[in-house]
Amino acid sequence: MSLDIESIRKDFPILEQQVYGKPYIYLDNAATSQTPLNVLKAMNDVYNGYNGNPHRGAHYMSNKTTAEYEKVRDKVKLFINAPTREEVIFTKGTTESINLVAYSFGEAFVNEGDEILVSEMEHHSNIVPWQLLCNRKKANLKVIPFDDKGRLKVEEIPALLSSRTRLLAVTMVSNAMGVVNPVEEIIDMAHSKNVPVLLDAAQAIHHMKVDVEKLGCDFMVFSGHKMYGPTGVGCLFGKKELLDKMPPFMGGGEMIEKVSFSGTTFNQLPYKFEAGTPNFTEVIGLGAAIDYLNGIGINNVIAWEHELLDYARKQLSGIKNIRFFGETEHQSGVISFLVGNIHPYDMGMFLDKMGIAVRTGHHCAEPVMDHFGIPGTVRASFAFYNIKEEIDKLTDAVKKVMSMF
Ligand code: PMP
Repeated sequence: MSLDIESIRKDFPILEQQVYGKPYIYLDNAATSQTPLNVLKAMNDVYNGYNGNPHRGAHYMSNKTTAEYEKVRDKVKLFINAPTREEVIFTKGTTESINLVAYSFGEAFVNEGDEILVSEMEHHSNIVPWQLLCNRKKANLKVIPFDDKGRLKVEEIPALLSSRTRLLAVTMVSNAMGVVNPVEEIIDMAHSKNVPVLLDAAQAIHHMKVDVEKLGCDFMVFSGHKMYGPTGVGCLFGKKELLDKMPPFMGGGEMIEKVSFSGTTFNQLPYKFEAGTPNFTEVIGLGAAIDYLNGIGINNVIAWEHELLDYARKQLSGIKNIRFFGETEHQSGVISFLVGNIHPYDMGMFLDKMGIAVRTGHHCAEPVMDHFGIPGTVRASFAFYNIKEEIDKLTDAVKKVMSMF
């Protein structure tokens, strides 16, 4: 089946609007993707029909919310092929999921002199929580470098793994360069030294099949708002044997078994890590986003997005003095570039005035920019609802900006 993009776009009315009197071209999907009508309806249904605090009350609305909320846990379990539903924890997003692991795994397993291994191409949210942990525990953060094409130097990993390495945290896809990392190989390397692996799937979960059982990763994290779901929701997958040994991240309602001033005991998984009223409306919206993606079929998404990316690369390559960042064999979702000496902010501003949304700057990945000695890049990022005409317009607009400088 090939995608009927015209009818898909009708599910995203936001794409139809005009900005500055021009049809809007949204190419900042890696920052936040747009939300289909079924997701908005699912959330509207909560507020209009059954807005009750889950797990708490004995009344109809609370019970209905609880049932719908827990159904989404089963949906996520199937979507990522987690072995059990207890291993799926709802959070506010990728950032919170990583902070949860950095704090709780860190409390349980990381001591003075231990090491955490990350890559040079991580988003700040997969660097800073580990730095905070290392500062707290007097541990050391080590870094896997990448080469000038953006390829992670996986051959250096065995030497970087030591008897003190407690965890390896790596992104599946670089948000700044679109590079797809060989995570199966990385997991094998880490596991051969008994080092658990956290995968940041923020830029992968909606572009490829992420099967945690097949991958064998120990933790995997993602955000709803990048996969056509709402903001304020995301997931942490963690292996039960690790999560069971980790202390709670936040204290509050629902994460307890019994509270008294002489001592408190904690709830079982997954509730131990879901303190307080969760973003239940957004969780239910996330479930609808998964339904939407499943309806299209991930293989159709992969095929169309590859076609778009290849096309964008080909079209933009024709521009004089264009320089791409991320030129490996496996790229996904993102095309990052600079043209001549034009500052990325200038390029972004002019493109915006022509009705084209791209992201400019360091993309919360400053070490990537430092690697290339640049202040930032221009990043166009794609979703299955983008079309080739939009890429043509981007190419023309970039040429126009060039002619102005
Ligand atoms: N990791 C990667 C690879 C990302 O692209 C992002 C978002 N740009 C994050 C982590 C953080 O996600 P969030 O802001 O949704 O927590």
